[in-house]
Parts: sequence; C-alpha cells; structure tokens
Amino acid sequence: MDIEKEAARIAEQGECAPRLARDPVNLPMIRTWLEAIGDEHPGYTEVAPPAMVQVWTMAGLHGQRTLDDPLGAMMTVLDEAGYTSVVATNSDQTYHRYLKVGEQLSVTTSLEDVTGPKRTGLGEGWFVTTRSTWWVGDEAVAEMRFRVLKFKPANVPGTAAPAASTTAPATTPAAASSTSTPTSPTAAIRPSVNRDTEYFWEGTRQGELRVQRCGGCGLLRHPPGPMCPECGATKPTYLVSDGYGVIYSYVVHHHPQVPGKQTPFVIALVELDEGVRMLGEFDGEPSVGQRVEVVFTKVDDDLTMPSWRPRADR
Ligand code: ZN
Repeated sequence: MDIEKEAARIAEQGECAPRLARDPVNLPMIRTWLEAIGDEHPGYTEVAPPAMVQVWTMAGLHGQRTLDDPLGAMMTVLDEAGYTSVVATNSDQTYHRYLKVGEQLSVTTSLEDVTGPKRTGLGEGWFVTTRSTWWVGDEAVAEMRFRVLKFKPANVPGTAAPAASTTAPATTPAAASSTSTPTSPTAAIRPSVNRDTEYFWEGTRQGELRVQRCGGCGLLRHPPGPMCPECGATKPTYLVSDGYGVIYSYVVHHHPQVPGKQTPFVIALVELDEGVRMLGEFDGEPSVGQRVEVVFTKVDDDLTMPSWRPRADR
C-alpha cells in the first residue's frame, strides 16, 4: 500500500462532518474532572476548565469512529501496512474563550500531515498529525493539533507473540512443581532491583519470602520503600513470611501480550497471614478467599520469582 498516496487522499477530504457532543457543558462532569485532576480551584461553577475541552466530545466507552473521521481512516491504513503500535501522543491545544455551562459543542477534524517512514528506537514508524476544531454554533472556541507515532515494533528477542507462546511462562508455579525449570532470561520481564528491593530478591533466591519491617516501630509493609509511613524511620529490617495467605483479589490477564508469557494468566493480590498484601502470578482457578502458598521459580542464577498456588494441605 502506498501510504503517502492514501494520506494525500484522506487529507484532501478536508474536515469531517461536525460531531456533536453527547451532553452540553455541565457541572457534574466538571466536578468529576476537577476531582480526577486534583484541581481545587473554586471558580469553575459557571465555566469549564479550558483543558477539559476534549472531554465534551469524547465518544464514550463504546463509541465508534465515524466513517469520515480522518484519524480513524489513517490509523486503519497504517495498521494494514503493519504499523500497529502507539506508544505516546502529543496534543497542543489553543483555547479562544471559556466554555459556559449549558453550551453545546461539536468538533471537526482534518488530517494535517503524515511523515515517514522514520527510524526510531522502537521501530520504523509514521508521524500522523490531525487538527481538530471545537465549535459552539459557528464560533470556533478551541483547537488542537494532535500527533501520534504509529510504528512497527522492532523484533526484540522474546517479545514476538508467536515465539513467546512456545516458551514456558517464566513464573508459573507449574514450572516450579518440577522444582526449577530455568526459562530463557531474555523471555521474561525482569524486576528492577534497587537498594529498597534488593533484600526481597536476595530472599527469593534463598527460598525466603521477605516482608519489610520498620526498624523503628516494627510496622510491616509491602511493597518495600525507603521510609516508614507510620514513624518516618529509614532503617528497615525484614521478617521471613511463612508463605501462606488468602487471595484478596485477582485479575485474569488476557491482553496485551507480555514477553515470555502465555495469555491468559492470573495475577492475584494475596493477603499474607502476616497481614500485608503482595501481588503475584497464581496457578489455578482463582477465587477470593482461597488459601494459597508461595512457590519459588528459579529463572536463572540472579532471578527467582515468587508466585502462588492453592495451599496443598487445606
Ligand atoms: Zn515505623
């Protein structure tokens, strides 16, 4: 497919038809947004914060792009050419005036620019820039230039989905039941180890599940940190957990693909008998309240991963 030709065709169509906001500018949405952002300015009772302009014309959780939407059309072209990934976007917004409660917005979008292919650290990609204008009636009230890099993921060992599916999941207790099955170190996502977490990973290497304990007041805490939230002491110690707990909550991860893992897999939030909660992979059919025990899986000499399985003796 000729990407530049397709881009020119879409750009030539100009602005899409105006898309109406689902609701007029309204106070409940303004309050929700201010809370989410953490903005306590008391002035937004009759006008909306300018930066939430895009909120008003969001299509909602199950929204569909319109057929003449140029961004959607260009994304489809690039998806079909193998440029399937997005890592970050950039928005430049211009506000012409405050929006008043009760005003009904609409938005139009055109494709401004498509440049590529560019070599980036992530892989080869195209920069796509669109321009949107928000309207109240025929008055332009705000504009946005939106840029996105669509790229072909570079072929990193262990990240290609078909290759990963032939590799044993790095942390499943199934691998551990044959004591220790080393998996390819390149296939697994490795934890970042620092001064605060080193004791934990040293523990798993020795078959110990260590829980950070405040050197001042004795409070147990997890995940580890440099300072006690209770008393402020900065010299933590640890205790070795018995390795038993119950599933407090869990998720079944289906998407996206994770290097070295087969989906779906279960990540459980386990409440240890000692009282703190800890995340880890769980091997089995999870249910809240289920008794579990820790399993250690040696990945290589440096890394042993803890995970969970149903407690054998209950
Ligand atoms: Zn403390």
